[in-house]
Amino acid sequence: MKTYIVGNWKLNFTVGEASIYLHKLLKAMPNYRDIEVVVAPSTIALQPLSLQIDRHVMKLAAQNAFYRDFGAFTGEVSFSQLRSVVDYCIIGHSERRNILGESDKMVQKKVAAAIRNKITPILCVGELESERAFGETRDVIRDQLIGGLGEVSDDELDKVIIAYEPVWAISSTKGARAAGLEDISDAVILIREILDEVYGKGRAKDIPVLFGGSVNSSNAGAYLALPGVDGLLVGGASLILSEFVDIVKAAKRVRNE
Ligand code: PEP
Repeated sequence: MKTYIVGNWKLNFTVGEASIYLHKLLKAMPNYRDIEVVVAPSTIALQPLSLQIDRHVMKLAAQNAFYRDFGAFTGEVSFSQLRSVVDYCIIGHSERRNILGESDKMVQKKVAAAIRNKITPILCVGELESERAFGETRDVIRDQLIGGLGEVSDDELDKVIIAYEPVWAISSTKGARAAGLEDISDAVILIREILDEVYGKGRAKDIPVLFGGSVNSSNAGAYLALPGVDGLLVGGASLILSEFVDIVKAAKRVRNE
């Protein structure tokens, strides 16, 4: 399995700025066959950047899309419109769940729509600080995972990537703190247990599970060295060229160890 390093640019950069940043990234990024580097710009930048990107070096992800392919859905962009523009889509990010009210049911339909349109969903799951405090972490992860994968058949499971992102560790969260290595390990094991439970023993080992939450070039190596962590979803640090490149280099170092 490749190591995945996914940069979520969130609502940052104009189209012009995104294009300049991508240009610089493409020049600075080492090309490692066993590391899949993905960047997720704003929707408006996806089309022009898809013409600019060198897919041998880096791939594009959308940060969100709508689950119906066409119709009266003002303001939405569908997975079918993004087909062949992006290879991946982040789905169910905590900012969409918590700020924009995205439910497990919507996440479920989006995961299905992504697969239907040959876009790999990166399904985000993760508990809030308050849920962790109440001892609900395992239930939240279970509900989000089973909910999100509700329309994914046995045959389709290997088209999915899971990202564990504890909301309290995301840098934009008030009072964010780094997740402990044990917390991450526990969550990654739990995610695979649930996948095995639902899809059959042994299925989970081939499904990439990423970690996200205040990742930077100093901690990336430690996170990636955890058994069962197959990559990183990077927010803030993906906007800093040297940081993002160094995270990719850290991934290569860990693979070579
Ligand atoms: C994210 O929002 O997906 C994320 C991981 O952000 P950051 O790396 O800034 O914590």
